[in-house]
Amino acid sequence: MFGGKIRHPVHTSGDPVLGREAEPILAITPDVVALARDMVEVMYRYDGIGLAAPQIGISRQLVVIDVPAEKDTVLSPGEELLLHQMPLALVNPRIVSSAGGMASREEGCLSVPGIYAQVVRPQRVVVHFTTLANQEIEIECDHLLARCLQHEIDHLHGIVFTDRLDSAEAERIARPLAELREKGRRRNFLREPKK
Ligand code: ZN
Repeated sequence: MFGGKIRHPVHTSGDPVLGREAEPILAITPDVVALARDMVEVMYRYDGIGLAAPQIGISRQLVVIDVPAEKDTVLSPGEELLLHQMPLALVNPRIVSSAGGMASREEGCLSVPGIYAQVVRPQRVVVHFTTLANQEIEIECDHLLARCLQHEIDHLHGIVFTDRLDSAEAERIARPLAELREKGRRRNFLREPKK
């Protein structure tokens, strides 16, 4: 269908790979570095700010992000450290703790094209991950960075944002989501890039 051109098409809602627990990465080998590079390319090609390996059908605990800075916000330590390192790959990322209460924010997902909904999550999180340079980092993040990391880390545990909606939001998107899955079934849950 894609003429063999796209090596890593994004897998869409309904694909079993998106519901699976991803395998931890045991060592930063050259294939992990190459996978991260490929994932950044896919993320840009599909116009996203984050991508988790299961979204390209690879059940490993690897995430890439390119989160922009937001205006008029007091930067968290995580934003101070990480926002200027984008694009960034996170190996085995996990949420250590959360703070700051809960916040509602609109989310979308490359695996759920065209569907957006309000998702309630902790405002701030402490995230632990390993860099491709084998550095362990544990740092508190806020704002869009915290939101994006929680969304991507969910993917490593088989959770898509549509699994986290309150009943009103779930009901609102039920029909388009069912249509997306039906369409996905006909194309093996593979999505063509935007450009
Ligand atoms: Zn997503």
